[in-house]
Amino acid sequence: MRCRFCQAPLTRTFVDLGRAPLSNAFLTAEQLREPEPHYPLHAYICDECLLVQLDQFAPPEQIFGDYLYFSSYSDAWLRHADAFAARMTDELRLGPGSLVVEIASNDGYLLQYFRQRDVRVMGVEPAANVAEVATARGVPTDVAFFGVATAQRLTAAGRADLICANNVLAHVPDLNDFVAGFAILLQPFGIVTVEFPHLLRLIADCQFDTIYHEHFSYFSLLVVDKVFAHHGLRVFDVDRLPTHGGSLRIHACHASAGRPRTERFDAVLAEERAAGLDRVDACERFADAVIEAKCGLLEFLIGARREGKLVAGYGAPAKGNTLLNYCGIGPELLPFTVDRSPHKQGRYLPGVQIPVRAPESISVARPDYLLILPWNLRDEIMDQMQAIRGWGGKFVVAIPRVQCF
Ligand code: ZN
Repeated sequence: MRCRFCQAPLTRTFVDLGRAPLSNAFLTAEQLREPEPHYPLHAYICDECLLVQLDQFAPPEQIFGDYLYFSSYSDAWLRHADAFAARMTDELRLGPGSLVVEIASNDGYLLQYFRQRDVRVMGVEPAANVAEVATARGVPTDVAFFGVATAQRLTAAGRADLICANNVLAHVPDLNDFVAGFAILLQPFGIVTVEFPHLLRLIADCQFDTIYHEHFSYFSLLVVDKVFAHHGLRVFDVDRLPTHGGSLRIHACHASAGRPRTERFDAVLAEERAAGLDRVDACERFADAVIEAKCGLLEFLIGARREGKLVAGYGAPAKGNTLLNYCGIGPELLPFTVDRSPHKQGRYLPGVQIPVRAPESISVARPDYLLILPWNLRDEIMDQMQAIRGWGGKFVVAIPRVQCF
């Protein structure tokens, strides 16, 4: 197995979470008695370039199948997109003669705000059903995976002044082909912005549950800078974002465009060096912290059971499936979880086979503890579910360690 970026052999473990089913493989009642494929969830760190990564075990159609993410954009997320479009339109002086391209543009949630500002847009989205929604709302969308071939084809319609790629870099199996595509499609003084969860936060906050098969790579600014430089691009600025437990949005240009590096860029780089992300040994302490988090959650659930307390789950996110499978927690310790998505209700979590019910089940079962699986939405969920206080219920999160609220 070789590094996805520099092709060096991968031998050093970042963290080994055993084997797990694909995180979107929710089960029907009939499937509970059938065998279920499990794939290694073993992350490596490259000795040469320090990229943290998983091997790809299943074809993309299987990993990303049943792609219904577009229904889940919240009002807060849309405001974030609108503000970003306003800022970039202003900073880059975009107008009707400019072109903004978004990679993995989904239902056009971001590009619609550039359209409203009279800027020409083009989406690139591999899921045809999602692309159709975008086109219907006036965002022309090319159904394709992005890379060199797609970039070359799209240049027929002109090069881009701005290319955005949010929360897609981690999902890309061929990282070099993807980033090389930016260099082809970007006009000489254009800008690329890319958002991704920050490896520094993953390590510092023990977010090991964000490791699952859809996420092939886990990025620091140090490594992203190296990858972009290899393709003739230069990262010159970075924004810190609260999304997904702590993300970065990098700004890059052609190396020849010579934009000066900002203080913000230097500050993040210095923080990563101070945390040891420029060396391989930072990961040794992380693997220990993961085992400690597992022991803590099991201790809590076993203790609750022995005291006759009921613990129920809230949410059925991909990260919950990593957590529960790695810790070996089934319905004996967590009898059910609830989720607002009707596509998940009535099904069972992959691997651990915990039933997913509608949120109304909570007021019937009156659990003593509600374990919040999407911990990044903790405040929002505690707000929505505060009725559990009425019967003395408490909220629990497992990451970075067990805490009750
Ligand atoms: Zn490497």
